[in-house]
Amino acid sequence: MSTKPPTPLQERLRHLPSVSEVDRHLAARGLPNGKAVRDAVQDELARIRREALEPGGEPPARETVLAAIERRLGRLAGGQLQPVINATGVVVHTNLGRAVLAPAWLADAAPLLSAYTNLEFDLQTGKRGARGGRVPHLLARLAGAEAALVVNNNAAAVLLLLSALAGGREVIVSRGELVEIGGAFRVPDIMRQSGARLVEVGTTNRTRLADYADAITPETAALLKVHRSNFVMSGFVEETSVAELAGLGAARGVPVWHDLGSGNFYRFEQPALRAIPTVEQELHAGADVLTLSGDKLLGSVQAGIVVGRAEPLRVMQRHPLYRSLRLDKLRLAVLERSLLDYLDIAALRANNRVVGLLERTPEDMTPMARTLLGLLPQAAAAPLRWELVRDQSLPGGGALPEVRIDTLCLALQPADGDADALATRLRGHQPPVVARVQEGRVLLDFRTIFEADLPALAAAIQGLCRAG
Ligand SMILES: *Cc1c(COP(=O)(O)O)cnc(C)c1O
Repeated sequence: MSTKPPTPLQERLRHLPSVSEVDRHLAARGLPNGKAVRDAVQDELARIRREALEPGGEPPARETVLAAIERRLGRLAGGQLQPVINATGVVVHTNLGRAVLAPAWLADAAPLLSAYTNLEFDLQTGKRGARGGRVPHLLARLAGAEAALVVNNNAAAVLLLLSALAGGREVIVSRGELVEIGGAFRVPDIMRQSGARLVEVGTTNRTRLADYADAITPETAALLKVHRSNFVMSGFVEETSVAELAGLGAARGVPVWHDLGSGNFYRFEQPALRAIPTVEQELHAGADVLTLSGDKLLGSVQAGIVVGRAEPLRVMQRHPLYRSLRLDKLRLAVLERSLLDYLDIAALRANNRVVGLLERTPEDMTPMARTLLGLLPQAAAAPLRWELVRDQSLPGGGALPEVRIDTLCLALQPADGDADALATRLRGHQPPVVARVQEGRVLLDFRTIFEADLPALAAAIQGLCRAG
């Protein structure tokens, strides 16, 4: 124990709260505790101490220190994977995890994951068997295809397709389809990575069948059609259909590949979605190989699904890249279970969340809206007014550009007019609520809100009233 008077440096740190003082403060505020929190607190205190001791550094006030620690803990909580309430109306939301899986699928798959399985084992011969159980058979059957295979995601499917079947050769693509999809899936980049040579034809807005025909050489490996998943072109535009390409390909002995991206085996009843062809219909247009995502419109796990003729798929499966891009058993188990629902429309509508949410009508949402209103104070409190409004969801995210579906929303109108601040506070709630800001209001779209979200959603809105 030193009895010497404090040095000027120590004097500067005199007002810093101790770790136990911070603990008491966090407990009083109902904030979490635990090793990760203690580490973060000590780290933050060390940082503040370091800065205070730097030449010209100021000894921070106690309140400043506690506020800095709370912010740090907020980041800690925000960074960890956690459920959020999606009130955006975007069903396939790239940033919120795309397809939400049915609890029944996970429950049914669980016993397969905590046991040894015949993942790659033929129970009749006792020898190594084909990987993936029924999944390829189910997919081929649902798509009306000769064969199917699955890999990590659709980007991987396209990379494998080009590497296995076009490496060193030419692939003809319309300039209007050299798209960028999501984070860094750029058709020209994937092409380069695969070793295939890109032959661009047509112009941005118009590509005719003759443009493809003129570009075919003995070096041509395929004609590639890429779905423009996340944007639309209108005005003076012309594109060549898969059916036309298939006719040309057949006449010239060149295969046709179709990167569909987002597809489903189900025909939607929702008027805005009725025109979307099924994967089977898309394949019937004549492509030799078609690729799509497992977690977009299909509503299952992240996966790249390849359907088409048996021979090219065999070549893909034998390519060394397949081994590094293949699907793990966890997703295979859930994918198999989710595909079984496609054999039974009633089960599909009950379990497949993407299908269920996309088929919701405003009338379907009314009981949920009434329940939510019943959980809120009778008269909207002063800082906030709310009302039910008809609106339109843009449900596809990057999967269905420009498709709008009639929906029902709770519109929140802040008295101070700052809708962005309101949306930020909703995101800060536990669980976070992600909403849509539109024309000075915050809209909570019942298209993507689950029944089970309602109590937490009501609590979040009540919180806005209190703190507002
Ligand atoms: C979404 C999409 C991809 C990428 O699929 P991931 O499953 O995200 O890898 C590729 N091509 C098209 C046309 C797409 O729509």
